[in-house]
Amino acid sequence: MNLRALKSRLVRLAAACGGYALARVLTARQPKILMYHRFSEQPEPGHVDRLSWRQQLAYLKRHHQVMNMAQFIALRARNAVPPHTVVLTIDDGYGDFYSVAFPELQRAGLSATLFVSTAFIDEQLWLWPDRLATIIDQLPEGELALAVVGEPRRYRLPAERPRLAADLKAQLVPLALAQKYQLLSALAAPFGIVVEGPVPEAFAPCSWAQLRELQAAGIEIGGHSVHHPILSAEADEQVRREIIDCKLKLDAELPQPVISFCYPNGEAADYDQRAKAACRDAGFTSAVAAHHDHLGFDDNYDLPRYSGNHDMFHVAKVASGIDYLGRRLMQWGKV
Ligand SMILES: [Zn+2]
Repeated sequence: MNLRALKSRLVRLAAACGGYALARVLTARQPKILMYHRFSEQPEPGHVDRLSWRQQLAYLKRHHQVMNMAQFIALRARNAVPPHTVVLTIDDGYGDFYSVAFPELQRAGLSATLFVSTAFIDEQLWLWPDRLATIIDQLPEGELALAVVGEPRRYRLPAERPRLAADLKAQLVPLALAQKYQLLSALAAPFGIVVEGPVPEAFAPCSWAQLRELQAAGIEIGGHSVHHPILSAEADEQVRREIIDCKLKLDAELPQPVISFCYPNGEAADYDQRAKAACRDAGFTSAVAAHHDHLGFDDNYDLPRYSGNHDMFHVAKVASGIDYLGRRLMQWGKV
């Protein structure tokens, strides 16, 4: 049995022995913010399929107080966050939120926060990870030497696609957005791969009309910048424009004011004090990260999140607080 299978079996065993229930009690006062991205009708890599999402929502509704970011922040201000709180957040604004995730939220009577990048909704851009995925998918099979930065490394495709994707992503993440686009286009061009122009159907966003419908139906819409850059890689003025213009555009397009923000990519190195200050100045009342390196809720502009995915056991583990307890144990171990 490999390590992953063993881990999965241990998690199931813990569940059977009441481990989830115990963790839920021990971490009842610790809110958990879950982060999702893509949805699909049928199981598909990197997506949460409709049936899994439906089952997760039913599970979360049974064991937790499920809410969106605005509700959570309002309750926090009154020191009235209920025990077992889980906040649902979905990043980017892909069309599959509207077609798959939203009907299931409605069916369950639950809300969530959808963070959107405004130029993406305007169909002015493909998000850079989608450009990279397109290149990786369409590269010819065989042995290739590639890099976007630094010395090219050799890869045998298709077997080493995952390694290539991870390497190129790591090379691209720290760069400013304009440079990312330039390097991705230069990488794609020799192979005749197109990563500019209209956004392909597979990566299509929600429309503004759909966002208005979502808001009217009780889904919170939040900001996720204009162009989805790594904010810490951009110049001061650009950081402010990405955050403030996002808020202005969302408030101009949507009837209800937008107050929650989500840092693009959201790892600890991807946002900084400039981004936090710009969020505050723009009128956002909170901002979430994409990691839970720190567990504290003392800074409303640096709130930890846990990744959700299609796997019910993973989501139950995170929501019940098993991951939180594990991190706390690690921190105690360092003292
Ligand atoms: Zn994003």
